[in-house]
Amino acid sequence: MIQARCPICSKSFSTPTLADWPTFPFCSERCRLVDLGRWIDGQYVVPGPEVPPSPTPQANGSIEVDEE
Ligand SMILES: [Zn+2]
Repeated sequence: MIQARCPICSKSFSTPTLADWPTFPFCSERCRLVDLGRWIDGQYVVPGPEVPPSPTPQANGSIEVDEE
């Protein structure tokens, strides 16, 4: 017998084998998705595209374009 506690809702569960518990260590698919959502929201995805700093030394002043 395997016993565990759901890390989301803290319910204690037991099962004969893990094969009978596809959502281990979560009590249900709902709790599994809650945990997955926490990963996506908090840690896994960095908000916004990562833009490497690209120096543009000629962006201001070095190139003078006389268009007036
Ligand atoms: Zn749960």
